Amino acid sequence: MQIRYLPETLINQIAAGEVVERPSAAVKELIENALDAGASAIDIDIFEGGKEKIIINDNGCGMDKEDLVAALDRHATSKLPGDDLLNISHLGFRGEALASISSVAKVSIQTHDSKGGESWQITCEGGKKSGIMPCAHPKGTRVEVKDLFYATPARLKFQKSERAEYGAVKDIVTRLAMVNPQVAFKLTHNGDRKLHLPAMLEGRARLSSILGRDFGENSMDIEAHRENITLTGFASLPTYHRGSSTFQYMFVNGRTVKDKLLHGCIRAAYADVLHRDRHPVVALFLDLPSDEVDVNVHPAKAEVRFRDAQSVRSLIINALKQAIHHHGQITATSNTDITMRTFRPSSYTSSGPSLPLSRSSQKAVPMQYQQHHMADSGGNTAFALAPQARADEIPGVIETPEIDQKIEQYPLGAARAQLHENYIVAQTTQGMVIIDQHAAHERLVYEKFKNQIAENGIEKQGLLTPEIIELDDTQSSKLLEHAETLNKLGLEIEPFGNGALAVQSVPVLLGHKINIKRLVYDLVDEVLDRDTAQTLEERINHILSTMACHGSVRSGRRMNIPEMNALLRQMEETPLSGQCNHGRPTYISLSLKEIEKLFSRS
Ligand code: ADP
Ligand code: MG
Repeated sequence: MQIRYLPETLINQIAAGEVVERPSAAVKELIENALDAGASAIDIDIFEGGKEKIIINDNGCGMDKEDLVAALDRHATSKLPGDDLLNISHLGFRGEALASISSVAKVSIQTHDSKGGESWQITCEGGKKSGIMPCAHPKGTRVEVKDLFYATPARLKFQKSERAEYGAVKDIVTRLAMVNPQVAFKLTHNGDRKLHLPAMLEGRARLSSILGRDFGENSMDIEAHRENITLTGFASLPTYHRGSSTFQYMFVNGRTVKDKLLHGCIRAAYADVLHRDRHPVVALFLDLPSDEVDVNVHPAKAEVRFRDAQSVRSLIINALKQAIHHHGQITATSNTDITMRTFRPSSYTSSGPSLPLSRSSQKAVPMQYQQHHMADSGGNTAFALAPQARADEIPGVIETPEIDQKIEQYPLGAARAQLHENYIVAQTTQGMVIIDQHAAHERLVYEKFKNQIAENGIEKQGLLTPEIIELDDTQSSKLLEHAETLNKLGLEIEPFGNGALAVQSVPVLLGHKINIKRLVYDLVDEVLDRDTAQTLEERINHILSTMACHGSVRSGRRMNIPEMNALLRQMEETPLSGQCNHGRPTYISLSLKEIEKLFSRS
């Protein structure tokens, strides 16, 4: 077989498979070019999910005649003035996007050379360039890409549905808009306007306009520094979560990235407060010197590699954890919104019961309820007033004098009643809260378990005969780097020669039936993949959380007022008490204002 050099067009088509594997990837490259050209407004129009046509219009610096010709050549870039790959200040630098796209599609570019004052146009179909021609183009650059992949039928066949492609385009425009709030973005699909984002000074405003006001109201500010690494952004309260991690936006030095390590950090930080299947919404911006990060790992530049991954990891996890702890007692306002909607007076709907109730019937319910509880609570003072209460008295006068006097010190207020054996109703200075007693207690028990472990360590069970696990050298030495951490968690491992490991002890918590091999293999995978050994900690926390669930006051238990108050006071002192271990809120609150609104008083 004879070796031959591949023709330029074929090389570009092969590269196109990586750089622009789908329409959204082309859109990303073209928008990044517009951003690199200093545009302050970018219009994106796509048809059939971008498969039929993509038009990007910017008001950037444009190109002169020579550059327009060179722009379509492979490895021709204006963005790498030196030969230093460690010093990258633009989004582009590989000089292959336009060459790749124009090798597999029909591209036409019009641009205005702001220095020379002329406008030029070029087309390129399946890698064949036309001559350059003068044209009328007012400012910036317009790139039109038609029939993407028409020149590579194999790739064309594998295109996804119009809807999927449109979704991916919208996602990428969204991401680029988040990290460039000062640039105006417009997106249309088949002529319908989809996004319209005016230029903004401030990142948060842009995020709110993209992710919704709900996110704005239910997110925590994140800001952390370590040496020369800075992390800023917003992360949702643990009670505001989604069913997938799609809404986690990560940026490194202004580049949008989808990086396993970074997503792992988010998962780790929320592991304690969110069920595994639920995902927080975050937008995080990581900035670090360009020689600390390699953005050249992936042709589409979606993955990055950090020089000091451990440091980046702990910065992100700690910052998120700290914010979660700081906001631990707040639950998402969107829950209150739901309450508000549920509480809408039924008189507004035709099917609802007729209002108003007679005065006496309004009071009868709570009265009976209070008396019912008297027997139970051993006649404690809190309920003592109830039997004597006259019909014209307001039923809210059940008092807990000590708490009422200092109520402003107690965010969760004074317990007034228990409903349906699970919901505690408490009065606060601001309004009222309803506490889910089971969820609240679950969190308290879980935190207690964790505290005990922090104090006394995790109890280990020594194995009579150590379990030997065959691994290869790199795997076992990688895992042994984490031996100390694992030991603290109760898993003792030692080298056993030839890459094998001996497991000497396991955490008692994991029970007798634990599959040690499986656990070690999982740990190896994780260590190789993400350079951490969290699996074990996650498993232990998962078990603690299950134990906590079983050890908690189940709903259905009656509590008297002092018991309820004790629970509220404990919640106030416990970190993260705003949600149970599964991210469900432990309480909801309604302010007096909201209550007044519900009764149309304001
Ligand atoms: P890269 O962005 O990696 O340099 P591209 O193939 O995407 O490679 O673009 C090649 C060159 O074309 C860029 O370096 C830039 O000089 C020029 N160019 C591309 N798009 C634009 C644009 N919208 N405005 C001005 N110049 C552009
Ligand atoms: Mg580019």
